[in-house]
Amino acid sequence: MDTSDTALVLFSGGQDSTVCLAWALARFARVETVGFLYGQRHAVELERRPHIRTRVAGLDQAWSARLGGDYVVKLDALAAMSETALTRDAAITIAESGLPTTFVPGRNVIFLAFAGALAYRRGAKHLVAGMCETDFSGYPDCRDDTLKAMQLALNLGMDRSFVIHTPLMWVDKAATFALAHELGGQALVDLLLEDTHTCYLGDRSRRHAWGYGCGECPACRLRAAGYAKWIGSR
Ligand code: ZN
Repeated sequence: MDTSDTALVLFSGGQDSTVCLAWALARFARVETVGFLYGQRHAVELERRPHIRTRVAGLDQAWSARLGGDYVVKLDALAAMSETALTRDAAITIAESGLPTTFVPGRNVIFLAFAGALAYRRGAKHLVAGMCETDFSGYPDCRDDTLKAMQLALNLGMDRSFVIHTPLMWVDKAATFALAHELGGQALVDLLLEDTHTCYLGDRSRRHAWGYGCGECPACRLRAAGYAKWIGSR
């Protein structure tokens, strides 16, 4: 197999990275996934990863044949140095810096560095990640320029020619649902609603039209608004 056609997807088990997984399966001959354990306050997202991988691949015979291994990288040091609402029982609010307190400084920079090292070892040329500048919450490590700089740094630092793909960079949550529908039809949209997890509080006790969640946290509100906009546009 030509490993230049292998992609490594940064896969958290959330809605965006699940769409990225489908996007990669529709494009590359082989697709592997990586997730990161960094002391998340709730492990709901990560626990659901194997199940979601299996279900997404099951939507299409070709996708099933392309799906390769899954890797979980433990980043305890990141958890230890983070004083944020995702890693501590602090309220999710906007801090004085203007950033949500869910922000783990440079989290995606660190994830991409580890993903690059793994891709090197796996012979994968393509890295696929769900960062998005459109629903920009003030996370500077989600910016397109940050990702382009990381691609350059990885290629110089590892003497490779990785390509970082961010299919969701310029689309909003409504367009993410539209992309999912384009890639995998209603079955993929249903899978997103039923199986993927976005809620910052890890709440799966309440099922809304847009999926499970508390309905109040910023992630739930963004998902609910995006789903309503997509349904309204059909
Ligand atoms: Zn929520």
